Amino acid sequence: MLDRQKSSCAEEAGALVPIIDRNRCEAKEDCVRVCPYDVFEIRILGPAERTALSLGGRVKAFFHGYRQAFAVRAQQCHSCGLCVQACPEHAIKLRSVGCDAEAHEAQGATRRARGASLLSLGTYSDVF
Ligand code: SF4
Repeated sequence: MLDRQKSSCAEEAGALVPIIDRNRCEAKEDCVRVCPYDVFEIRILGPAERTALSLGGRVKAFFHGYRQAFAVRAQQCHSCGLCVQACPEHAIKLRSVGCDAEAHEAQGATRRARGASLLSLGTYSDVF
């Protein structure tokens, strides 16, 4: 397991934010453990969030008690990438700030549920 290393987060906060793929997250909490800035918490998916999941995502979420990671303090992210490396489900990406990350996350989940491609959004540039 990776240790929390604030020294590895040289960037100022606010450049990037973590985006969590709701169809991949299994609440294994590695992101919670490794983030030096306590960006993540584990919460229970709400009804609207469950509806936005793909069929596979719903099955996965059901078997994990609908628990998932949420970037509740995304503005504290220092862009170190530890959470991206630590997530065993490859559910986290860092995206540039300058737009509404939560809106994008919800929009992306809805589009995935419909089978549309994220590439068509063209709003963000993936960093990791
Ligand atoms: S990149 Fe991940 S681990 Fe590093 S500060 Fe941001 S949210 Fe925390």
